Amino acid sequence: MKTPEELMRLAMEEAELSVKKGNGPFAVVVVDQGGNIVWKDHDRQKELTDPTAHGEINAIRHLCKSLGTMSLKGYTFVTTSEPCPTCLTGMIKAKVSRNYYGAKTENTASLPLSAKYLASFAKKYPIEVIGGILAEETLSQRERLFGIK
Ligand SMILES: [Zn+2]
Repeated sequence: MKTPEELMRLAMEEAELSVKKGNGPFAVVVVDQGGNIVWKDHDRQKELTDPTAHGEINAIRHLCKSLGTMSLKGYTFVTTSEPCPTCLTGMIKAKVSRNYYGAKTENTASLPLSAKYLASFAKKYPIEVIGGILAEETLSQRERLFGIK
């Protein structure tokens, strides 16, 4: 089974791809309960002309539709940056069990609320939020990729 750090490196590769396609430097790798990678996705706001087309939302839409389920219970979302409130709420609605994220976004986000704080209110469908996986590398990647856009 891959470690959170190994999964984060794959998410970082996906973030590079996202920027090459003209989207933002944000990506997600989704693993199932057995640690198998089931999907990778990234920001598609520009591509879809949709401000809500963040990697996590795109992954939820794809996985729920392709698996024919409303529940991603047991799945882990590994995201290069801290999930925004839209994505965190989406993950809670989809019953995602865990989120590992890299760089914090709280200080630069359009709605600067900590994912861990928001997740603490999710009693019906609890989600475990663990930040700081390759924190420095994911932050410097995000800054570098924003720089070349
Ligand atoms: Zn988001």
